[in-house]
Amino acid sequence: MTHNNLKDELLAAMKEAHTRFSGSEGGKNADYIPFLANVPSDLFGIAACLPDGDVLAVGDTDYRFGIESVSKVPTAILAMEQYSAGEVLDRIGADATGLPFNSIMAILLENDHPSTPLVNAGAISACSMIKPTGDADGKWKAIVGFIEGLCGSGVEVIDELYKSESETNFNNKSIAWLLKNYGRIYDDPDMSLDIYTRQCSIGITAKQLAVMAGTIAFGGSNPITCKHVFKPHLTPHIVSLMATVGFYENTGDWLFTTGLPAKSGVGGGIMGVIPGVVGIAAFAPPLDKAGNSVKAQNALKYITGKLGLNIFAPAGARQPVKAAKV
Ligand code: GLU
Repeated sequence: MTHNNLKDELLAAMKEAHTRFSGSEGGKNADYIPFLANVPSDLFGIAACLPDGDVLAVGDTDYRFGIESVSKVPTAILAMEQYSAGEVLDRIGADATGLPFNSIMAILLENDHPSTPLVNAGAISACSMIKPTGDADGKWKAIVGFIEGLCGSGVEVIDELYKSESETNFNNKSIAWLLKNYGRIYDDPDMSLDIYTRQCSIGITAKQLAVMAGTIAFGGSNPITCKHVFKPHLTPHIVSLMATVGFYENTGDWLFTTGLPAKSGVGGGIMGVIPGVVGIAAFAPPLDKAGNSVKAQNALKYITGKLGLNIFAPAGARQPVKAAKV
């Protein structure tokens, strides 16, 4: 598929997906974080970023929603950038837990590993690794600066969301201290958890997520700013983590059906990466039981199915796949 074909076909499929799913019911806003329960449920946006920096957008792609678990992706990359992929593998791991994102049981079962930086335990552990250790402000600046480099634009914490999440994150507090018990947190547990909570409370738009996905897809080089944000060899590592655990306990079903490595967040965002081809994102607040946006999943399934964008398809044979019917 040539670039122009891809662009036209992608935009057409995005528009179709938006029309097809915008009126659909199903799912419910996350409510264990009170702020998220009040985000308008009918918001729905789809955006994609191509190698030349073109950003395609349909629907509510400028609305700032809580990035939530999608933030685990940039922090995992930053940890690999600051240390190395091998050190993140040693200190955190890369195994899917097969359990919910905030599982305490997963930590007990794998007591020598938080298991992957893309579930809560591993993400809190990754925040604890970020340099400069022992310096909350310095760590925060490093994380925000990195996210902005990936998006090519500024981001800010949604204060109300941060407050709401900080007042209710009892489960995550237990995770942080359990990690301490197993020697798997590398800075102060309360401070590491606070950094994690703050990064989850960052407001992001679907367009920004698409550019972040594009920067990952194109080897750490931001297609808009043309800046090198991270080392190219980290793309396969982060994409493999997204593929193996991006949808928590539903990841296998998702990957089997779509072949799209992606990461979801309980704010309703999903960010997908087809290395070398496209970064794509969708946002709609109502979630399924595992915490993944229903409409965003349907939209991404439809678009990638229609274009045959499946990382497991033989190169050059990207044909629309029947398994992608929604
Ligand atoms: N901040 C949320 C939590 O820790 C993120 C969960 C998610 O998006 O999966 O519970």
